[in-house]
Amino acid sequence: MYEDLKRVIDENENIVFFGGAGVSTESNIPDFRSTDGLYHQKYKYPPEVILSHTFFIGHPKDFFEFYREKMVYKDAKPNLAHIALARLEKEGKLLGVITQNIDGLHQAAGSKNVIELHGSVHRNYCMNCKKFYPLDFVLNSSGVPRCSCGGIVKPDVVLYEEPLNDKAIEDAILLIQKADVLIVGGTSLNVYPAAGLINFFRGKHLILINKTQTPADRSAKMIIREPIGEVLGKAVLDR
Ligand code: ZN
Repeated sequence: MYEDLKRVIDENENIVFFGGAGVSTESNIPDFRSTDGLYHQKYKYPPEVILSHTFFIGHPKDFFEFYREKMVYKDAKPNLAHIALARLEKEGKLLGVITQNIDGLHQAAGSKNVIELHGSVHRNYCMNCKKFYPLDFVLNSSGVPRCSCGGIVKPDVVLYEEPLNDKAIEDAILLIQKADVLIVGGTSLNVYPAAGLINFFRGKHLILINKTQTPADRSAKMIIREPIGEVLGKAVLDR
């Protein structure tokens, strides 16, 4: 079933992977925008309000309560998709991974060149003196995590109303422009900037692995509607 995908991977070197929430759902991290995801759970405020910059500044205690409980999955393990991509990079076939996820699972699987468009829960900085703090500091503190200088320690994740990191976007565009094969997985490409970024692709093979339709389906060479861990596991690890 995955023979075509296997062949493209075997015959090409400059592969780039662009992934969204669907890559992490197989590691039991819920997809924000799916029907049983975060957006449909019951909270005092809707998640998109809690995860906004305005809310963070106005109600930091409530923000961190939600953040620790619903945004951080410390015990999540990389799944076959993460492992397969790390293997491809090691084999010299994959140039890098661009992800919309903040969980650090690509690095946990061994990937080196990972562009995190929305930041990472593993990086946290004092808003006052910029001192770095690891994830455990945020998880183990109660209420609002505070730096030794008194400043709030803010996770390096992009909240609603906040701009994406310019360097990450620039790096993502450069990487996509270098790709002969672009595999897009676990994203419906409806969220900024995903759809725009893949317009920079000039290579031969655009491959989509997603359970539902995406706006890019028309320009894709190959569309696979199966779970991404299974697909990449079979196409990469069983070679
Ligand atoms: Zn500080």
